[in-house]
Amino acid sequence: MSQETEEQYRSIFENAVEGIYQTTVDGRYLRVNPALARIYGYDGPEELIVNLTDIAGQLYVDPGRREAFGELMVRQGVVHNFEARVFRRDGSIIWISENARCVRGADGAIRFYEGTVQDITERKQHEEKIRLLATVFLNVADGILIVDPELMVQAVNPAYTAMTAFEIDELVGQPLVLFHHGSHERAFIEEIWRTAQQAGRWQGEIVTFRRSGEEFSAEMTVSAVRSPGGTLEHYVLTLADISQRKYQEHQIRYQASFDRLTDLPNRWLVCERLEEALLRAQRSRTKVAVAFLDLNRFKQVNDTLGHQAGDELLKMIGRRLRNVTRVADTVGRLGADEFLVVAPDAADRLSGGRLAEKIVYSMNEPFTIFGQEIYCGASIGVAFYPDDGETADQLLRNAELAMHHAKRNPEQRFVLYDGTMRAQNGYHLTLESDLRRAIATGEFELFYQPKVDLAQRRLIGAEALIRWRHPGRGLVSPAEFIPLAEDTGLIWEIGCWTLYSAARTMASWIDRGLEAGVVSVNLSARQFQDARLVGLVQSVIEESRLPPDRLELELTEGAMIGDIEKAVGVLNGLKGIGVKLSIDDFGTGYSSLAYLKRFPIDTLKIDRSFVRDIVKSSTDPAIVGTIVSLADSLGFATIAEGVETREQADMLLQQRCTCIQGYLISRPLELPAFEAFVRRPGLQI
Ligand code: C2E
Ligand code: CA
Ligand code: CA
Repeated sequence: MSQETEEQYRSIFENAVEGIYQTTVDGRYLRVNPALARIYGYDGPEELIVNLTDIAGQLYVDPGRREAFGELMVRQGVVHNFEARVFRRDGSIIWISENARCVRGADGAIRFYEGTVQDITERKQHEEKIRLLATVFLNVADGILIVDPELMVQAVNPAYTAMTAFEIDELVGQPLVLFHHGSHERAFIEEIWRTAQQAGRWQGEIVTFRRSGEEFSAEMTVSAVRSPGGTLEHYVLTLADISQRKYQEHQIRYQASFDRLTDLPNRWLVCERLEEALLRAQRSRTKVAVAFLDLNRFKQVNDTLGHQAGDELLKMIGRRLRNVTRVADTVGRLGADEFLVVAPDAADRLSGGRLAEKIVYSMNEPFTIFGQEIYCGASIGVAFYPDDGETADQLLRNAELAMHHAKRNPEQRFVLYDGTMRAQNGYHLTLESDLRRAIATGEFELFYQPKVDLAQRRLIGAEALIRWRHPGRGLVSPAEFIPLAEDTGLIWEIGCWTLYSAARTMASWIDRGLEAGVVSVNLSARQFQDARLVGLVQSVIEESRLPPDRLELELTEGAMIGDIEKAVGVLNGLKGIGVKLSIDDFGTGYSSLAYLKRFPIDTLKIDRSFVRDIVKSSTDPAIVGTIVSLADSLGFATIAEGVETREQADMLLQQRCTCIQGYLISRPLELPAFEAFVRRPGLQI
């Protein structure tokens, strides 16, 4: 070897980053470079050679590794990437990887080994971490999903597939689908990804679903994983199934807040729900109706038939109350034979009155207990937030007071609280006598609100809405006086006037060539249940000579509950005359689809509460869509009321509901203004 080559080799040996060595076969170092000394923690090659004299015993954590090394050398003459854990001088352990060969003498015997050493501790730790993670991924009880930034699923662990019963193939490579349509507000879901992306992590409770479609609650964390450079690589989602825990929590809360006998919320819980409803109503400026119910003949039942019969009766009352109220309403038992119904979103006093009416009807039906028919009856008082009280306590007291009024006047099925009640009974009396006078002196007027078909861009009709031009109080809304008119029976005469006057107006429009479609008139429950109704409508048609299909009657579902057979009979009678029938406020009431099919109805009028929420909520559009398809399949038309914005109209159109009524088109108009509306060329929508 030339001087120069020798120099070059020396330089490489001295400066290499890898450790380089020559050792004897029995494990002593002959030569080492500075890098090897550094890797093993010695000050320099000299120190290493002096101190590290037994490779098998001193260096390898597992002395067996040296044996394995030796065997490989004998068999192959070389080793590649021979990995082992070794002690450094200070006793710490590192991972190394060796490449070595044996150098033989002329006789073929091994003279020494020479090789290189690399410190691979960092790589090993990384691999270890990954293995650990993989173990966790495979073995934890939490479901784990890994998705890319476009939310395509990249990996799922066995816990997730076990939890949801999905197959891996059904998930991996597919877009992530965590939520059933409508299980969460869109805004909530967007918030999850926004937070995960911006803050790196989102944690919270969600409702997700299993392969069977069953929904369950899960505690979820979403972590964003970024590369060292900061680009988002993927999200890791962990989900813990807490449906079991939820169930237990529910059980515990249930026992503390529900009445054992009827399974209804107890006094504490109804009051809680009432307070919640008040908070929401305060924000949304809506009303809450509170109906206080006291059974009329509970004591007799208990005394004559015994406690068991009494208990049975209370259970049945609970069930019936649940059946006549909406899901959003709370029915609770206050004690003994007192019940409370809290109806949030009561649009006005009228709808609160309707609720009370439905309850009264349901209570007047007999209860069959131990084979015996029992008529129990109930007295009901209703108070409204905010009109009759600001707090739960005030409302409860006032509803109770109104209930006592109802008890004292058996002909009144329910009583709405009003402020003068505390002093005396005067208010009702003056309003009642005013109402009687109004009929005689003709203080009523009809306003007309256009109904349009957006698809055909044309007017299809008008709803006649009554107004009372009270000499002292100005224009009084029907929500104020219809309940009283119903209570006092004056509704019959008012209803006659409305029908005649709407029919005559329509007939005159036809005579004058004003194309206004169909005029619709509201009928309250009391009118519908009056045996004279079919005869009245018959004479209205005859007297006005209006083609019957130009008159439509709007009925609420509440009007038809009770005796379904009778209702079907009356509806068929009306249909026989040829008038159109529509169900008003559809979706808020009893809505038994089974009986809907039996009714000869033309149109379902989707309640304005759905329209109001349709833009905000992710579920209501679906509900509207369902109503429309359902109506379609039953052969009914649909119309949406209370449409105030273009956005609502667009959402309705998307759900295939093209007929609308509401402030977006026009407010209810006085007769001349309505006629002007009809004459206006082309619909400006
Ligand atoms: P309804 O049958 O649900 O009538 C629709 C009510 O919604 C009307 O209130 C109407 O003015 C209102 N409305 C229309 N468009 C919109 C809108 O875009 N936004 C909102 N927020 N409200 C809108 P009105 O005229 O005060 O009538 C209240 C209720 O009184 C009616 O509810 C109906 O049940 C009853 N009613 C009205 N006229 C008569 C009648 O002649 N006889 C009977 N029995 N009841 C009547
Ligand atoms: Ca109506
Ligand atoms: Ca309505």
